[in-house]
Amino acid sequence: MNTKKVFLSTLLLMLFAISSYGSVNTQIIAHRGFWDKLGSAQNSVSSLRNAIDFGAYGSELDVHLTRDGYVVLNHDDKYQGVNIQEATYAELSALRLANGEPLPTLQQYIEVAKTQNRTKLIVEIKSHHSPEADVRVANAVVNVINDSGIADLVDYISFSADICKELIKLNPQHRVGYLNGDKSPQELKAEGYWGLDYNKGTLHDDHPTWIKEAKELGLTTNVWTVNSLEEMQYFLQQGVDYITTDHPELLKGLLN
Ligand code: MG
Repeated sequence: MNTKKVFLSTLLLMLFAISSYGSVNTQIIAHRGFWDKLGSAQNSVSSLRNAIDFGAYGSELDVHLTRDGYVVLNHDDKYQGVNIQEATYAELSALRLANGEPLPTLQQYIEVAKTQNRTKLIVEIKSHHSPEADVRVANAVVNVINDSGIADLVDYISFSADICKELIKLNPQHRVGYLNGDKSPQELKAEGYWGLDYNKGTLHDDHPTWIKEAKELGLTTNVWTVNSLEEMQYFLQQGVDYITTDHPELLKGLLN
């Protein structure tokens, strides 16, 4: 190799190192939407609108499949005593969120997301208690998203390895992040994942080398739910790609 080539390859390696670790280009994901505002509620359409107005990279949401095949938003398995996965959409549509909205359907969320092309939907598909049900919900969600033409605006996440496996099988290009914290970056890479999306304790206490290892493997790194300044600073120093937080404004202040 001549001197010029050596110089160029060294320069490229340096640029790669800077882009991988040197700069803080961390993006903000609003956890369950940007709900911490007057008149909003977690997993509400209003929280998605707030996240879009704020300019978040993503607005995270939790989805379940109803007994009659609707994909609806809610964090817990039950809402006001009604088991979402055992209910019909008609039964759920009578219930109201804290801000008076009905529980949104994924379709209603998509209609709002479609009005722009910046803020992504970070769709968390909840576990459905059997591998068969997990496969069913993964397919239902992907169908709704593909039919709506906004696949480019969606990243998928789940605690369920069965759901993630199905999402990757349906389309290896799906951006799938695993939440459960029990797979190493090497395992995730081998299984076709886009990235890891782990609890702050997993990445800070249990496996402090995993962010670096994931980056070296070309996986994306996301951490939840990071709400204090000290935690935000730690993960920014680690060069994590995404921070999922209940306090997007606090994080934005720190980034600026
Ligand atoms: Mg969630």
